[in-house]
Amino acid sequence: MKIAIIGAGYAGMSAAFDLVKAGHEITIYESENSTGGLARGFRDPKWDWSVDRFYHHWFASDEHMLGIIEELGLSDSVIFPRPYTVLLHDKKWYPFDSIKEALLFPGLGWGVNKLRFGLVGVYLRLTKNWQALEKITADAWMRKWAGAQVYEQMWESMLIGKFGKHYKDVPMSWFWARIHARTTKLGTFKGGFQAFADAFAEALRKQGVEIKLSVKVSSIRKSKEKNIVTLEGGEEEFDKILVTTSPKVMAKLTPDLPKTYLEKLLELKQMGAVVLVTALKHQLSEKGYYWFNLPKDDGFPFLALVEHTNYVSSEHFGGEHIVYGGDYIEAGHEYFEMDAEELMDKFAESFARINPKFTRDWVRKVWVFKADYAQPVPQLNHSQNIPAIETPIEGIYFASMSQVYPWDRGTNFAVEIGRRAAGLMMR
Ligand SMILES: Cc1cc2nc3c(=O)[nH]c(=O)nc-3n(C[C@H](O)[C@H](O)[C@H](O)COP(=O)(O)OP(=O)(O)OC[C@H]3O[C@@H](n4cnc5c(N)ncnc54)[C@H](O)[C@@H]3O)c2cc1C
Repeated sequence: MKIAIIGAGYAGMSAAFDLVKAGHEITIYESENSTGGLARGFRDPKWDWSVDRFYHHWFASDEHMLGIIEELGLSDSVIFPRPYTVLLHDKKWYPFDSIKEALLFPGLGWGVNKLRFGLVGVYLRLTKNWQALEKITADAWMRKWAGAQVYEQMWESMLIGKFGKHYKDVPMSWFWARIHARTTKLGTFKGGFQAFADAFAEALRKQGVEIKLSVKVSSIRKSKEKNIVTLEGGEEEFDKILVTTSPKVMAKLTPDLPKTYLEKLLELKQMGAVVLVTALKHQLSEKGYYWFNLPKDDGFPFLALVEHTNYVSSEHFGGEHIVYGGDYIEAGHEYFEMDAEELMDKFAESFARINPKFTRDWVRKVWVFKADYAQPVPQLNHSQNIPAIETPIEGIYFASMSQVYPWDRGTNFAVEIGRRAAGLMMR
């Protein structure tokens, strides 16, 4: 078959990997100038390694991603350093991502709260019955089983930070997926995620996949016999097409989809993201903490401060210290209009709350990255809302972050859904 894939993120590249191996002729169209999708990186001339535009890592349980890396023969380049995630309590930061640290965390006291926290954690790790958990919101379930104090201290601000005004709608199954499938060990690729995306693309090209970068697809339609992709330079015919964009873009590209499928696409909710990347002359967290969960109700204007060089060495960045400030925001939020310097002005006070010695002259350079489709927002009984990978138009398939539920979005699940779509296309 002659197959087009729209998008060179991990879903698109993983689908291409299986399809080309089975002997099909594959063209990937990618509107950006590099592969990797949301997990793309960039490299300042001063650095040896790339930095992800939106901070990324893998969990030790990411079997689909680690599996395809092994098939690509690239496992030697995967590293799993042990970074520290911290939470704020009483103006002090405490590590909080292992059982030992949870037990020592003073925010829960020593009584029944700690026990409830532990029991809820064990239950969510062990149960596989996410279907029961999608019938109730995380907010209601947590208040009932963990208790209001544990929930408000530990998780409520993370939910608010991630989902904004939608946070009370998110089903408990979303929370289950995070606790059930994640590990404290975090992995990355030597050279950064872009180095992996480049190596993946290179392996695909060697197999004969044609990857057309900086080529935007503007529409997809079916003629009598074939499926047609329209590009700036004209039209191309294919037997099958896999689209890996956001649901909104899919709806726009393919207006001939039946109304019921289009409505399903457009009803899916999402959050956008903005991430400020800073190159600093000095280390910000001298204790070597990697990930700060920032409570917005304590005056922090963003959700996560992530010191990348407390995870991988600053040696790879010419001795500079890379710190991200990231937030999830809704369409129309003022951050979408702000440039990197304006965001730095807004976030600087929070950097100084991590290290009072911080001043603006520590900052050598800032960059900002924005995405309007960054985090799908699941709803109650969400398994009923997921559009099928096989669309009602024969030969046109769709695989996105919004369809990996009950799992949360992630490159691991992009690989899984990409390969699942490839399987369906070859059936
Ligand atoms: C802030 C943030 C943090 C994250 N952290 C992690 C993490 O730590 N670990 C992790 O595993 N995942 C993380 N993710 C999620 C991860 O990035 C995604 O789940 C994954 O990259 C999705 O891959 P995809 O192939 O489905 O889609 P995408 O990566 O979005 O790929 C779709 C591609 O389609 C292209 N495209 C769109 N429209 C067109 C068009 N008209 N023509 C041609 N091409 C088009 C896009 O440019 C894009 O390259 C994070 C995401 C964000 C936003």
